Amino acid sequence: MTKLFDRVSLIGIGLIGSSLARAMRKQALAGEIAGYARSETTRAKALELGLVDHVCPTAAKAAKDADLVILCSPVGTYGALAQEIGPTLNSGAILTDVGSVKGAVVKDVSPHVPRHAHFIPGHPIAGTEQSGPESGFAELFINRWCILTPVPDADPDAVEKLAAFWRACGSNVETMTPEHHDLVLAITSHLPHLIAYNIVSTAADLEEVTSSEVIKYSAGGFRDFTRIAASDPTMWRDVFLNNKDAVLEMLGRFSEDLSALQRAIRWGDGDMLFDVFTRSRQVRRSIIAAGQDTASPDFGRGAPKTP
Ligand code: NAP
Repeated sequence: MTKLFDRVSLIGIGLIGSSLARAMRKQALAGEIAGYARSETTRAKALELGLVDHVCPTAAKAAKDADLVILCSPVGTYGALAQEIGPTLNSGAILTDVGSVKGAVVKDVSPHVPRHAHFIPGHPIAGTEQSGPESGFAELFINRWCILTPVPDADPDAVEKLAAFWRACGSNVETMTPEHHDLVLAITSHLPHLIAYNIVSTAADLEEVTSSEVIKYSAGGFRDFTRIAASDPTMWRDVFLNNKDAVLEMLGRFSEDLSALQRAIRWGDGDMLFDVFTRSRQVRRSIIAAGQDTASPDFGRGAPKTP
């Protein structure tokens, strides 16, 4: 693969930032990679792992002279970071992000981007429940979608260059409006996380069933929820605070459908339950057919290791 950028700056070097660093290294996409993270520990780890060529003591120093700056920290940090970085951005530099919410990010970041630079928001639909610089891997983005939400008058060359970057990391690229992104992700990602957090916390609060029983007899369904509910609390707090309207809209629909299922159970309406379950199974099969998951039991994770 050929070099696409001379200096890429990663602001935040956790799961996503470090996976991008690894993918860039593997494909030789950047002349050099500069990094900044909030803590000295993460900055030192990023250097030790060879993820970045330099770490900088501030986000502004990391972003200086970069032709691509990628915000890879929690969404709630983007406004203040953009305010700090904005004045240092070179003419023609691309500022992007990987945040799981787009409308709020556009509102928080855009006012700080100088006219001579390009802000092109992005979101790779790829991740795990792990966090930190050691959890990343170069293959994370392969065959996953990356959504870009450029403003209508965004520079087409800059958008294409960023799309080429994501394609080189293995992703398929789609563009859409921030509002549409937030609605789609509210149902495909944000609501499932909220439900997982809720079901795990409900189980943990049960008084008749002890928490040791919840762990000991954790059936497949509950275990899958606990994996999602182990995701980073800071990241997910910021997602819900910043995609409030779309999440509340989807939560309203979800609650109505849940009430319908509750009613079907109460009145013994087996046909209704069977129809809903059959339709849902088809969705799972379509996801596998589209290559977005594996049909292996346990999602291909294999049997748990014995302690
Ligand atoms: P992560 O593993 O927890 O890493 C977050 C990184 O951001 C860490 O390096 C952290 O530094 C740094 N950070 C936190 N606050 C900061 C600040 N104020 N200034 C500068 N750096 C700061 O998180 P992640 O999973 O990579 O998520 C990062 C972004 O990707 C989020 O916006 C999230 O919405 C998005 N995203 C996540 C996933 C996923 O599945 N995880 C998928 C797609 C998109 P310290 O280690 O020093 O605290």
